[in-house]
Amino acid sequence: DNLKPDDFTNLRKLGEGAAGIVWKVMHNPSQRVMAKKTISVEPDPTVQRQILRELSFLRSCESPFIVSFYGAFLDDGETTIAICMEYCEGGSLEDIYLQAKRMEAVIGETILAKLAEAVCKGLSHLHSHNVIHRDIKPSNILMTRDGHFKLCDLGVSGELINSMAQTFTGTQYYMAPERIKGGTYSVRSDIWSLGLSIIEVGQNRPALPPAELPHMTVFELLDYIVHQPMPNLGEDRSPECRDFILKCLIKDPLERPGPEVMVNHPFIQKWAHLTNDITPWLKQVWGWP
Ligand code: ATP
Ligand code: MG
Repeated sequence: DNLKPDDFTNLRKLGEGAAGIVWKVMHNPSQRVMAKKTISVEPDPTVQRQILRELSFLRSCESPFIVSFYGAFLDDGETTIAICMEYCEGGSLEDIYLQAKRMEAVIGETILAKLAEAVCKGLSHLHSHNVIHRDIKPSNILMTRDGHFKLCDLGVSGELINSMAQTFTGTQYYMAPERIKGGTYSVRSDIWSLGLSIIEVGQNRPALPPAELPHMTVFELLDYIVHQPMPNLGEDRSPECRDFILKCLIKDPLERPGPEVMVNHPFIQKWAHLTNDITPWLKQVWGWP
């Protein structure tokens, strides 16, 4: 690792989540723009070394469907880890659908299909390296300026997940039933989260809690996920689209297809011949020239 805290200039704050803050930064020695995420961790040097070691595995996860990893280091003070990654100008799918909502626009099916295709391909790639993403949701699917979708915030460091557990207050809306029940989980649990993400992006609001029960407690919500039928997009969407979501949201992980099977689903195959030109749409969303 050759990235050092002093080599960066903050350009703009990109966002803030439950675990940390993300900045658009300039890496001065290379003159490369990057996204730098800082996460508070325990002040224990053994734990920190372990986290950095585990994060370095991200180097071997290189794929067109995964945000590139540039390096990680201990940032100022003793309790902050910085993770440097590819900066994605299009922002997250959450940023994008919230912007679409402001414009009173609905995100079309070609976009949803291309999103589904990229996530399935990214998950297959991770699967071949025995990695489960663990946190698929619209804010962790990013877009580049040239209209490609990429996954970020992979759960490759068990030590980092443990270390954050103390401060973690994030939502569990995207958790598959088998995770809630404390069973073993796999790449198929990521497919579940993809189903909920497609609904959310397609309707410009989260799939859960269901519209008719907006005030559920966390316990009620988790119980609902395990026992009740899941929502889907409306009849205005194609049968292929609705069937794709239905397959993602099969409760039994043994019956739910993995990413290698899902990528051949008619919803994705229907648009597979279209080369990835969704840049005019992205330009329109962000008002780019
Ligand atoms: P949570 O904490 O619940 O996981 P989150 O995913 O939104 O939520 P962060 O991962 O801290 O939280 O990211 C915050 C925001 O920063 C994202 O929503 C996105 O807008 C932006 N962001 C993150 N990584 C990048 C990146 N590589 N390029 C551009 N923007 C990014
Ligand atoms: Mg994130």
